[in-house]
Amino acid sequence: MGEYDKYMELDEYEARHRRRVAHNNEQHQHHHHSSAKSSRVGFFKTRAFLAAITVTVYATAIAMLFVFSKDLGINIQAAEEATTAQNVLEKPLYPENFTTVAMQQSDLHDGFLLLIGNSYPCEHDGIDLVNMSESSNGTYLLSNLIMEANETTLNQMNLMFGDFHAAVGDNDVMISCCYRSRSLQQELYDEEIAEKGEEEGSRWVTQPGCSEHQSGYAFDLSLMDDNGIITEFDGEGKYGWIAENCAHYGFIIRYPEDKTDITGIYHEPWHLRYVGTAHAYYMQQNNLCLEEYIDLLKEYSVENPLEYQDVEMNRWSIYYVPAENGTTEVPVPDGCEYEISGNNVDGFIVTVSVN
Ligand SMILES: [Zn+2]
Repeated sequence: MGEYDKYMELDEYEARHRRRVAHNNEQHQHHHHSSAKSSRVGFFKTRAFLAAITVTVYATAIAMLFVFSKDLGINIQAAEEATTAQNVLEKPLYPENFTTVAMQQSDLHDGFLLLIGNSYPCEHDGIDLVNMSESSNGTYLLSNLIMEANETTLNQMNLMFGDFHAAVGDNDVMISCCYRSRSLQQELYDEEIAEKGEEEGSRWVTQPGCSEHQSGYAFDLSLMDDNGIITEFDGEGKYGWIAENCAHYGFIIRYPEDKTDITGIYHEPWHLRYVGTAHAYYMQQNNLCLEEYIDLLKEYSVENPLEYQDVEMNRWSIYYVPAENGTTEVPVPDGCEYEISGNNVDGFIVTVSVN
């Protein structure tokens, strides 16, 4: 039930209450009228007595008004308090400093926490893409000059490889792939299926429309030596730095070795995906893959958020809001930094920076 409906109900309740009071008053007046008629029969003869009674009644009424005026005041106050308490209960459950943001069905497929896979296609063909060679900081190699990436993903990539370069010195890390169009994914998939058959091939290359590369949030690493020899990135030795530190920049190793039964994809130490620092740290610390994490978040609501502090002492409050048909009013705190992402499945995830 929306807030508006609740107020409508309150209005209706109030109107009904007023009607009832009016009805009672009518009944009361009617009753008073008939008793006055009968008393007239009994006391009509002695007007003096009637006058005396009238004076007594007025006097008693005035006296009682004086005696009970204090109590009356307190009672009115108590009644007001009761009304206020009732109104508080009628309000929505979220804290008073929360407002709502209206999210549409299409927003379900936007944001850094999209779960993209064979069951959850990517609805976009590239999200906020920039040319990588133009925006790279030169601390990694690029397999070609026309490669594109999501802008935030690229900025974080620059930070990570800048630090990696500073930590290990010259190296031969190359981005072999980032954004990949749906049509190119189709080509790769067809080739793989032709070579390995559908069942095995689909465990190596995701179906067209279902690749994370189609969003621009994911990239693959390779190694290229001075002679231009390209080898697979296995994340071993000095390259272990990347898996250890990628969460700091908001990246996860998307298809870990111990999660292949959940992701449905073989271990890919070369495939990184941007999800944002808060989530990358949580997944790393709790050994969760994205499928598990998206599932876990459904246990946390705005009334009962996931509140945690990452290793850098940043405090986060994270909660899930299930999508409704049409518009979903997503509660967000006033005066806090927050981000809303669709999960590409059935709801929205709000990430609040509590610092
Ligand atoms: Zn990949």
